[in-house]
Amino acid sequence: MTTPEPTRPAAGAGTLGIDPALLAILACPDTHHSPLTVDAAAGELVCGTCSRAFPVRDGIPVLLLDEARFRSA
Ligand SMILES: [Zn+2]
Repeated sequence: MTTPEPTRPAAGAGTLGIDPALLAILACPDTHHSPLTVDAAAGELVCGTCSRAFPVRDGIPVLLLDEARFRSA
């Protein structure tokens, strides 16, 4: 009998597979360091201050200004 892999509760659609504890401390890399919100539909993390959207690749948020795009409000 094989032991099943432990299932991680974090990989829900609402968090893009990002650990909720990590999500809680993520901030925009710009100087204002505003908290980011998950846009599950777009698969991005969005800053409410500068409207940048950061991609999430394989559950890893890419918080680089060079990788961000601006979203129109
Ligand atoms: Zn920002």
